[in-house]
Amino acid sequence: MALISEEYQNKKLKDYNINIKTKYIVGREVFERNTDGSKNDDIKCGVILSKKYYKNNLLIHEEKDFDTRMEYTFMSKDMEQKENVCPNCGATGKLENFIDGCPFCGTYYNIDYTDKELGNKYHYDRVLRNNTYRVITGIVDLVISMLLSLLFIKLTSRTFNIIDVSKVFIYGIILSLILYYFFYTIDAYIVLGPIKRYKDKINQRQINFWNRTRIDKKRFFNNLNYEIKKYYYTKDNIIDYDILDYLSFKEYKDKGNEYIEVTAEVRVISYNNNKIKSKYLKETYKMRKNTKGKLELEEGKNIIKCPNCGGSINANDSKCKFCSTEIKYLQEWILEK
Ligand SMILES: [Zn+2]
Ligand SMILES: [Zn+2]
Repeated sequence: MALISEEYQNKKLKDYNINIKTKYIVGREVFERNTDGSKNDDIKCGVILSKKYYKNNLLIHEEKDFDTRMEYTFMSKDMEQKENVCPNCGATGKLENFIDGCPFCGTYYNIDYTDKELGNKYHYDRVLRNNTYRVITGIVDLVISMLLSLLFIKLTSRTFNIIDVSKVFIYGIILSLILYYFFYTIDAYIVLGPIKRYKDKINQRQINFWNRTRIDKKRFFNNLNYEIKKYYYTKDNIIDYDILDYLSFKEYKDKGNEYIEVTAEVRVISYNNNKIKSKYLKETYKMRKNTKGKLELEEGKNIIKCPNCGGSINANDSKCKFCSTEIKYLQEWILEK
């Protein structure tokens, strides 16, 4: 089963025979969605709880660290259960049987839903995801401990040779281990203030970006995630990704083109030799505004015909597969990596 935005990943997972079971929380209920279609709960503005990766029905990997501010929505059962008549060959049946194209004549259905969330974030907070805070605390702790032990050795021994220097290090490290908790608590007061102010500044910059550009957030996030999906899933070995946080948005013009640069913290999951590996990356996605006109999609089924030969077109393709006529792109912003 492939919606326009899921096609690339589904294809990839099918090749590797991998099924991803994702658990979502909506309110207080837990729902599940599997990439192989074995479980397809309706999800409206859900938050991811966990992802389990199965290869040939064996659990081989699990991810539990998700950003609870990212929202996801998946197509409602109502739409899948709708009765459908194929306009090309007249075949009838439930729309869910046409999602991979008409089973009789192969016409592409291009099923889309406007009310989707592919990993959108609307909230601001002061959470700093990385562990800079702990690293700074560790450095402050170590430096002060070293200075204290240097002072101690200087005051207690008459000589200051190589043995004393190594003593400074050994004592310093032991002391730093003892004092770490103390510094951790003290730093909570000293370091957390600046972190909060720093986060407030970043948040304000993002708020300003959305106010200034007047871009529809939901549409842009969906557009961005479609492009990221396409980029990763058409690359070797990448089978999944999750945006952990959007760090910055910047708009600019270059050679007559409009751009938006998005920096995000992302976890990319790859499959190699029966093993799944996750990698945390800070990625910058450069989005160029589509000036050639956008392919407009409607809620539900979209039957797109080639303007030249009338052949059935898959919205994810850039050209008609029969006559190679270029077709309009379905997004307003196109990823240029
Ligand atoms: Zn048909
Ligand atoms: Zn054509």
